[in-house]
Amino acid sequence: MENMLAHPNISLETGVDADARLSVEGGVLSFDGERFEDAVIYTGSLDKLMRYKYGALPYRTLDFVTKKTAWPFQPVAVVNYPDSRPYTRTMESGHFYPGNDYNFSRVTYEYPLAYEPDSDREPYYPIPSERGAEIYKLYMNDASAARNFYPAGRLGGYRYINMDAAVLDGLAAAEKVICKN
Ligand SMILES: Cc1cc2nc3c(=O)[nH]c(=O)nc-3n(C[C@H](O)[C@H](O)[C@H](O)COP(=O)(O)OP(=O)(O)OC[C@H]3O[C@@H](n4cnc5c(N)ncnc54)[C@H](O)[C@@H]3O)c2cc1C
Repeated sequence: MENMLAHPNISLETGVDADARLSVEGGVLSFDGERFEDAVIYTGSLDKLMRYKYGALPYRTLDFVTKKTAWPFQPVAVVNYPDSRPYTRTMESGHFYPGNDYNFSRVTYEYPLAYEPDSDREPYYPIPSERGAEIYKLYMNDASAARNFYPAGRLGGYRYINMDAAVLDGLAAAEKVICKN
């Protein structure tokens, strides 16, 4: 990552909320209040960017609770609980490095929660519904009207994707930008 980011054509700013600086209206993309002509690949939530004008996209989020425990707590890194327990998954990262022994362990419990728009939580899992699909279509219509704006990734696409699909999505977004410019 560091080697890629060290390229002279790449600059990086973190801790900046793009939604405070970008806007897409009437097919025009603006950055800091001025029309912006270069390509923008946007990996945030379209509803937040567009100030929820068509409503909030429904999401589920998670509360992560990590506890110290004896090693090993469970036989594998991730155990799913599709039963009546209040948590859906436990994760013990020590198993990512097989063959190691530890004096103690840390286990993270994942508790599902409803996501409230504009809260300080992360929107994690889109809730599949007709209403959600319709709202997303309205935002995408506005987004597509700006020729240099490319929503991408799990938030931009309003869908759950695994890491391999996220990498493919990034490559597809890059291809679209390269083909158009
Ligand atoms: C809880 C959870 C568990 C998962 N577990 C697995 C797993 O076990 N295996 C697997 O393969 N995949 C897993 N995934 C999926 C994987 O994490 C995603 O597919 C991948 O991270 C998607 O990459 P992305 O770049 O689209 O989105 P993200 O990784 O979410 O990246 C989006 C980036 O955009 C930034 N951003 C968003 N809005 C703004 C804004 N307004 N201003 C500035 N920056 C902004 C964010 O800070 C973030 O850096 C999991 C996902 C979740 C949510």
